[in-house]
Amino acid sequence: MIAEQQLNGAEVAHQEKNVFSLAGKLALITGGGSGIGFDIAQCMIAAGANVIITGRREHALAESIAVLGKSAQYVVNDVTELNTLEGLVEQIETNIGPIDILVNNAGINMKRPALEVSDDDFQRIVHTNLNAVFSLTRACAKRMIARQSGSILMISSMAAYYGIDRVVAYAASKSGVEGMVKVLASEFSKFNVRVNAIAPGFIETAMMQTAMNSDPDRMNKALSRTPMGKFGKPDDIGWAAVFLASEAARYITGASLPVDGGNSVGF
Ligand code: NDP
Repeated sequence: MIAEQQLNGAEVAHQEKNVFSLAGKLALITGGGSGIGFDIAQCMIAAGANVIITGRREHALAESIAVLGKSAQYVVNDVTELNTLEGLVEQIETNIGPIDILVNNAGINMKRPALEVSDDDFQRIVHTNLNAVFSLTRACAKRMIARQSGSILMISSMAAYYGIDRVVAYAASKSGVEGMVKVLASEFSKFNVRVNAIAPGFIETAMMQTAMNSDPDRMNKALSRTPMGKFGKPDDIGWAAVFLASEAARYITGASLPVDGGNSVGF
Protein backbone atom coordinates (compact mmCIF):
# COMPACT_ATOMS: atom_id res chain seq x y z
CA MET A 1 0.00 0.00 0.00
CA ILE A 2 2.77 2.39 0.96
CA ALA A 3 4.70 1.48 -2.19
CA GLU A 4 1.57 2.09 -4.28
CA GLN A 5 1.04 5.46 -2.63
CA GLN A 6 4.65 6.37 -3.29
CA LEU A 7 4.29 5.32 -6.91
CA ASN A 8 1.14 7.41 -7.30
CA GLY A 9 2.91 10.31 -5.64
CA ALA A 10 5.81 9.96 -8.08
CA GLU A 11 3.39 9.79 -11.02
CA VAL A 12 1.60 12.91 -9.84
CA ALA A 13 4.93 14.70 -9.37
CA HIS A 14 5.96 13.63 -12.87
CA GLN A 15 2.70 14.89 -14.40
CA GLU A 16 2.83 18.13 -12.44
CA LYS A 17 6.31 18.83 -13.83
CA ASN A 18 4.67 19.49 -17.20
CA VAL A 19 1.90 21.80 -16.10
CA PHE A 20 3.71 24.86 -17.48
CA SER A 21 4.00 23.29 -20.93
CA LEU A 22 1.97 24.70 -23.84
CA ALA A 23 2.88 21.80 -26.13
CA GLY A 24 0.20 21.16 -28.73
CA LYS A 25 -1.49 24.52 -28.10
CA LEU A 26 -2.13 27.20 -30.71
CA ALA A 27 -1.99 30.83 -29.52
CA LEU A 28 -3.27 33.90 -31.35
CA ILE A 29 -1.39 37.02 -30.23
CA THR A 30 -2.49 40.43 -31.49
CA GLY A 31 0.28 42.98 -31.93
CA GLY A 32 2.83 40.15 -31.86
CA GLY A 33 5.20 41.78 -34.35
CA SER A 34 6.92 43.96 -31.78
CA GLY A 35 7.25 44.91 -28.13
CA ILE A 36 5.50 42.85 -25.49
CA GLY A 37 3.52 40.81 -28.02
CA PHE A 38 6.68 39.58 -29.72
CA ASP A 39 8.11 38.39 -26.40
CA ILE A 40 4.84 36.71 -25.46
CA ALA A 41 5.14 34.81 -28.76
CA GLN A 42 8.75 33.89 -28.04
CA CYS A 43 7.98 32.67 -24.52
CA MET A 44 4.95 30.67 -25.64
CA ILE A 45 7.00 29.00 -28.37
CA ALA A 46 9.67 28.17 -25.78
CA ALA A 47 6.89 26.56 -23.74
CA GLY A 48 5.95 24.40 -26.74
CA ALA A 49 3.12 26.35 -28.40
CA ASN A 50 2.59 27.29 -32.02
CA VAL A 51 1.69 30.96 -32.42
CA ILE A 52 -0.01 33.26 -34.88
CA ILE A 53 0.91 36.90 -34.56
CA THR A 54 -1.07 39.78 -36.04
CA GLY A 55 -0.49 43.48 -36.65
CA ARG A 56 -0.90 46.17 -39.28
CA ARG A 57 2.74 46.34 -40.49
CA GLU A 58 3.58 43.32 -42.63
CA HIS A 59 7.32 44.02 -42.64
CA ALA A 60 7.43 43.96 -38.82
CA LEU A 61 5.51 40.69 -38.77
CA ALA A 62 7.75 39.10 -41.42
CA GLU A 63 10.89 40.15 -39.54
CA SER A 64 9.46 38.70 -36.35
CA ILE A 65 8.63 35.39 -38.00
CA ALA A 66 12.24 35.16 -39.22
CA VAL A 67 13.32 35.27 -35.57
CA LEU A 68 10.51 33.20 -34.10
CA GLY A 69 11.00 30.33 -36.55
CA LYS A 70 8.75 27.60 -37.86
CA SER A 71 6.43 27.54 -34.85
CA ALA A 72 5.14 30.99 -35.83
CA GLN A 73 2.98 32.36 -38.60
CA TYR A 74 1.57 35.81 -39.19
CA VAL A 75 -1.63 37.33 -40.49
CA VAL A 76 -1.83 41.02 -41.36
CA ASN A 77 -4.87 42.40 -39.54
CA ASP A 78 -5.99 45.69 -38.08
CA VAL A 79 -8.00 44.90 -34.94
CA THR A 80 -9.92 48.16 -35.26
CA GLU A 81 -11.64 46.78 -38.37
CA LEU A 82 -14.13 44.92 -36.24
CA ASN A 83 -15.95 43.36 -39.17
CA THR A 84 -12.75 41.44 -40.12
CA LEU A 85 -12.27 39.72 -36.76
CA GLU A 86 -14.82 36.92 -37.16
CA GLY A 87 -13.27 36.14 -40.55
CA LEU A 88 -9.76 36.23 -39.08
CA VAL A 89 -10.65 33.62 -36.49
CA GLU A 90 -12.54 31.49 -39.03
CA GLN A 91 -9.59 31.62 -41.44
CA ILE A 92 -7.12 30.56 -38.73
CA GLU A 93 -9.31 27.78 -37.36
CA THR A 94 -10.01 26.39 -40.86
CA ASN A 95 -6.48 26.61 -42.25
CA ILE A 96 -4.29 26.13 -39.17
CA GLY A 97 -6.31 24.75 -36.28
CA PRO A 98 -8.37 25.56 -33.20
CA ILE A 99 -7.19 28.55 -31.22
CA ASP A 100 -6.50 27.39 -27.65
CA ILE A 101 -5.09 30.66 -26.35
CA LEU A 102 -6.04 34.23 -27.28
CA VAL A 103 -3.76 37.07 -26.17
CA ASN A 104 -5.34 40.50 -26.65
CA ASN A 105 -2.09 42.45 -26.64
CA ALA A 106 -2.41 45.07 -29.41
CA GLY A 107 -2.82 48.50 -27.91
CA ILE A 108 -2.11 52.20 -28.38
CA ASN A 109 -1.55 55.11 -26.04
CA MET A 110 -1.30 58.88 -26.25
CA LYS A 111 -0.09 61.20 -23.53
CA ARG A 112 -1.96 64.47 -23.38
CA PRO A 113 -3.73 66.47 -20.65
CA ALA A 114 -7.38 65.45 -20.49
CA LEU A 115 -8.72 68.81 -21.62
CA GLU A 116 -6.62 68.59 -24.81
CA VAL A 117 -7.91 65.16 -25.80
CA SER A 118 -10.34 65.37 -28.73
CA ASP A 119 -13.36 63.12 -29.14
CA ASP A 120 -11.64 61.50 -32.11
CA ASP A 121 -8.49 60.72 -30.10
CA PHE A 122 -10.54 59.33 -27.22
CA GLN A 123 -12.57 57.12 -29.54
CA ARG A 124 -9.52 55.91 -31.47
CA ILE A 125 -7.83 54.70 -28.29
CA VAL A 126 -10.93 53.13 -26.78
CA HIS A 127 -11.77 51.53 -30.12
CA THR A 128 -8.36 49.81 -30.34
CA ASN A 129 -7.88 48.93 -26.68
CA LEU A 130 -11.43 48.00 -25.70
CA ASN A 131 -13.94 47.61 -28.55
CA ALA A 132 -11.59 45.46 -30.63
CA VAL A 133 -10.70 43.34 -27.62
CA PHE A 134 -14.37 42.54 -27.09
CA SER A 135 -15.07 41.70 -30.74
CA LEU A 136 -12.07 39.41 -31.12
CA THR A 137 -12.68 37.78 -27.76
CA ARG A 138 -16.30 37.05 -28.71
CA ALA A 139 -15.22 35.46 -32.01
CA CYS A 140 -12.68 33.20 -30.25
CA ALA A 141 -14.72 32.51 -27.13
CA LYS A 142 -17.75 31.06 -28.90
CA ARG A 143 -15.51 28.45 -30.53
CA MET A 144 -13.65 27.78 -27.25
CA ILE A 145 -16.97 27.37 -25.45
CA ALA A 146 -18.14 24.87 -28.08
CA ARG A 147 -14.93 22.89 -27.44
CA GLN A 148 -15.18 23.41 -23.66
CA SER A 149 -11.57 24.54 -23.52
CA GLY A 150 -9.63 27.76 -23.82
CA SER A 151 -7.65 30.51 -22.16
CA ILE A 152 -8.05 34.21 -22.90
CA LEU A 153 -5.55 36.82 -21.75
CA MET A 154 -5.88 40.58 -21.84
CA ILE A 155 -2.82 42.81 -21.61
CA SER A 156 -4.19 45.53 -19.39
CA SER A 157 -2.12 48.16 -17.56
CA MET A 158 -1.58 49.52 -14.11
CA ALA A 159 -3.10 52.67 -15.64
CA ALA A 160 -6.39 50.87 -14.93
CA TYR A 161 -5.59 50.88 -11.22
CA TYR A 162 -4.16 54.36 -10.66
CA GLY A 163 -4.76 57.89 -11.80
CA ILE A 164 -1.73 58.39 -14.02
CA ASP A 165 -1.84 61.91 -15.47
CA ARG A 166 -2.32 62.48 -19.19
CA VAL A 167 -3.61 59.03 -20.18
CA VAL A 168 -7.34 59.55 -19.74
CA ALA A 169 -8.49 57.53 -22.78
CA TYR A 170 -5.91 54.80 -22.23
CA ALA A 171 -6.84 54.44 -18.56
CA ALA A 172 -10.54 54.35 -19.42
CA SER A 173 -9.95 51.67 -22.04
CA LYS A 174 -7.82 49.49 -19.77
CA SER A 175 -10.29 49.88 -16.88
CA GLY A 176 -12.95 48.68 -19.29
CA VAL A 177 -10.83 45.65 -20.12
CA GLU A 178 -10.44 44.86 -16.40
CA GLY A 179 -14.23 44.98 -15.97
CA MET A 180 -14.72 42.82 -19.05
CA VAL A 181 -12.34 40.17 -17.66
CA LYS A 182 -14.45 39.71 -14.55
CA VAL A 183 -17.76 39.38 -16.41
CA LEU A 184 -16.40 37.04 -19.10
CA ALA A 185 -14.57 34.91 -16.53
CA SER A 186 -17.81 34.49 -14.64
CA GLU A 187 -19.88 33.70 -17.74
CA PHE A 188 -17.34 31.33 -19.34
CA SER A 189 -16.17 29.41 -16.26
CA LYS A 190 -18.73 26.67 -16.64
CA PHE A 191 -17.44 26.02 -20.16
CA ASN A 192 -13.85 25.55 -18.99
CA VAL A 193 -12.76 28.80 -20.65
CA ARG A 194 -10.62 30.99 -18.39
CA VAL A 195 -10.22 34.76 -18.79
CA ASN A 196 -7.44 36.70 -17.06
CA ALA A 197 -5.53 39.95 -17.37
CA ILE A 198 -1.91 40.89 -16.94
CA ALA A 199 -1.32 44.45 -15.77
CA PRO A 200 2.21 45.45 -16.78
CA GLY A 201 4.06 48.24 -15.05
CA PHE A 202 6.79 50.12 -16.93
CA ILE A 203 8.05 47.72 -19.59
CA GLU A 204 10.89 48.68 -21.95
CA THR A 205 9.22 48.85 -25.38
CA ALA A 206 8.63 51.43 -28.11
CA MET A 207 5.37 52.45 -26.41
CA MET A 208 7.15 53.21 -23.14
CA GLN A 209 10.00 54.99 -24.94
CA THR A 210 7.51 57.29 -26.72
CA ALA A 211 5.82 58.07 -23.41
CA MET A 212 9.15 58.82 -21.70
CA ASN A 213 10.37 60.98 -24.59
CA SER A 214 7.31 63.19 -24.24
CA ASP A 215 8.30 63.91 -20.63
CA PRO A 216 12.04 63.57 -19.86
CA ASP A 217 11.47 63.84 -16.11
CA ARG A 218 9.11 60.91 -16.24
CA MET A 219 11.83 58.26 -16.47
CA ASN A 220 13.19 59.21 -13.04
CA LYS A 221 9.71 59.53 -11.56
CA ALA A 222 8.76 56.12 -12.90
CA LEU A 223 11.91 54.51 -11.52
CA SER A 224 11.46 56.13 -8.13
CA ARG A 225 7.95 54.65 -8.01
CA THR A 226 9.16 51.16 -8.80
CA PRO A 227 10.29 49.35 -5.64
CA MET A 228 12.46 46.89 -7.60
CA GLY A 229 14.36 49.91 -8.96
CA LYS A 230 14.32 48.85 -12.60
CA PHE A 231 11.95 48.71 -15.54
CA GLY A 232 10.50 45.42 -16.75
CA LYS A 233 11.51 43.57 -19.89
CA PRO A 234 8.94 42.35 -22.41
CA ASP A 235 9.68 38.73 -21.53
CA ASP A 236 8.66 39.43 -17.93
CA ILE A 237 5.16 39.72 -19.40
CA GLY A 238 5.81 36.78 -21.71
CA TRP A 239 6.52 34.33 -18.90
CA ALA A 240 3.52 35.55 -16.91
CA ALA A 241 1.40 34.93 -20.01
CA VAL A 242 2.77 31.39 -20.34
CA PHE A 243 1.87 30.71 -16.72
CA LEU A 244 -1.68 32.07 -16.98
CA ALA A 245 -2.32 30.23 -20.24
CA SER A 246 -0.96 26.95 -18.91
CA GLU A 247 -2.44 24.11 -16.92
CA ALA A 248 -0.51 25.45 -13.91
CA ALA A 249 -3.11 28.24 -13.73
CA ARG A 250 -6.11 25.93 -14.22
CA TYR A 251 -7.93 27.29 -11.13
CA ILE A 252 -7.25 30.95 -11.94
CA THR A 253 -9.88 32.95 -13.78
CA GLY A 254 -11.09 36.54 -13.51
CA ALA A 255 -7.72 37.62 -12.13
CA SER A 256 -5.56 40.60 -12.99
CA LEU A 257 -1.90 39.88 -12.34
CA PRO A 258 0.35 42.90 -11.82
CA VAL A 259 3.78 42.38 -13.39
CA ASP A 260 5.25 45.68 -12.38
CA GLY A 261 8.32 45.45 -10.17
CA GLY A 262 6.14 46.36 -7.22
CA ASN A 263 4.48 49.54 -8.58
CA SER A 264 1.18 48.36 -7.23
CA VAL A 265 2.54 48.27 -3.68
CA GLY A 266 5.02 51.12 -3.99
CA PHE A 267 3.00 54.19 -4.94
P1 NDP B 1 4.20 48.65 -28.82
O1 NDP B 1 3.75 49.97 -29.31
O2 NDP B 1 5.65 48.34 -28.72
O3 NDP B 1 3.48 47.49 -29.64
C1 NDP B 1 2.10 47.54 -29.89
C2 NDP B 1 1.75 46.44 -30.87
O4 NDP B 1 0.35 46.52 -31.12
C3 NDP B 1 2.48 46.56 -32.18
O5 NDP B 1 2.97 45.30 -32.58
C4 NDP B 1 1.41 47.06 -33.15
O6 NDP B 1 1.64 46.54 -34.44
C5 NDP B 1 0.16 46.47 -32.53
N1 NDP B 1 -1.03 47.25 -32.86
C6 NDP B 1 -1.31 48.54 -32.55
N2 NDP B 1 -2.49 48.91 -33.09
C7 NDP B 1 -2.95 47.83 -33.75
C8 NDP B 1 -4.10 47.58 -34.53
N3 NDP B 1 -5.03 48.52 -34.76
N4 NDP B 1 -4.28 46.35 -35.06
C9 NDP B 1 -3.35 45.39 -34.87
N5 NDP B 1 -2.24 45.55 -34.15
C10 NDP B 1 -2.04 46.77 -33.62
O7 NDP B 1 3.51 48.49 -27.40
P2 NDP B 1 3.85 47.52 -26.18
O8 NDP B 1 4.46 46.26 -26.65
O9 NDP B 1 4.53 48.32 -25.14
O10 NDP B 1 2.35 47.26 -25.67
C11 NDP B 1 1.69 46.02 -25.83
C12 NDP B 1 0.51 46.01 -24.86
O11 NDP B 1 1.00 46.16 -23.52
C13 NDP B 1 -0.48 47.16 -25.10
O12 NDP B 1 -1.81 46.70 -24.92
C14 NDP B 1 -0.12 48.15 -24.00
O13 NDP B 1 -1.22 48.95 -23.63
C15 NDP B 1 0.30 47.20 -22.89
N6 NDP B 1 1.13 47.84 -21.87
C16 NDP B 1 2.42 48.26 -22.15
C17 NDP B 1 3.19 48.86 -21.16
C18 NDP B 1 4.62 49.30 -21.38
O14 NDP B 1 5.23 49.87 -20.45
N7 NDP B 1 5.22 49.07 -22.52
C19 NDP B 1 2.67 49.07 -19.81
C20 NDP B 1 1.32 48.60 -19.64
C21 NDP B 1 0.60 48.00 -20.63
P3 NDP B 1 1.35 47.38 -35.79
O15 NDP B 1 1.84 48.78 -35.54
O16 NDP B 1 2.11 46.65 -36.83
O17 NDP B 1 -0.11 47.30 -36.00
